[in-house]
Amino acid sequence: MHLLCQGAPQVLELEADVLDTRPGAVLLAQTPVFPGGGGQLPDRASIQWSKGEADIRVVKSDERGWWHEFDGEAEISGPVHVSVNAAFRRLMCELHTLAHVTNSVVFQNFGGALLTGAQLSADGTFRIDFDLTGSEADRLRALADPINDVIRQDLPIRTYQMRWDEANSVPGLFRSKSVSPPRQADGNVRIVEIGDLDRQACGGTHLGSTAQTRPVRILKVDNKGRQNRRIKVGFVD
Ligand SMILES: [Zn+2]
Repeated sequence: MHLLCQGAPQVLELEADVLDTRPGAVLLAQTPVFPGGGGQLPDRASIQWSKGEADIRVVKSDERGWWHEFDGEAEISGPVHVSVNAAFRRLMCELHTLAHVTNSVVFQNFGGALLTGAQLSADGTFRIDFDLTGSEADRLRALADPINDVIRQDLPIRTYQMRWDEANSVPGLFRSKSVSPPRQADGNVRIVEIGDLDRQACGGTHLGSTAQTRPVRILKVDNKGRQNRRIKVGFVD
């Protein structure tokens, strides 16, 4: 199901007609809300209607559109307005962009090491796990320099669609060790490109260029299993 935030991430407000309703939920044809996934937290958002307003708890797709479940048991009909919290979305875009940059820097410096997991956090940090062996903690701690170097270069970030089979045959486009990105109903997969540094399949939201993020430091390097290294990244104070 097509997500508005993938093609038009600037749209944070949406007027929509209710297609279907049940207590505490409405079905809309589209949503400006990123529902969560791929390590990115769901947007914070609210819904307003003629008689009230509520925080949206979760957004789920079905074959007709997007169910927006909200606090309370109201049964809503008619037009509604959905608002996405802009500050939180921006933080997620910033962290998600940095996760790509970190991922590409590790991929290039550690022999094509693949991602085994990533999670953005509301506290302005993220952790990212790699399939790495050996005691490389010092080299991983030194990654802040090349990451901040990419930020200074202000590389443009763009997204486009590619056939899933074609993307699957290009080494490095599917960066996760265990999970391939889902094939969309149209047979495509969305590619996120950072200048000439990095291309990978991803469905999340990102900044327009790398200089839009603050510089970072490596907060922690952990061994999570024999073949797994976890890096925690946060902003320079
Ligand atoms: Zn991404």
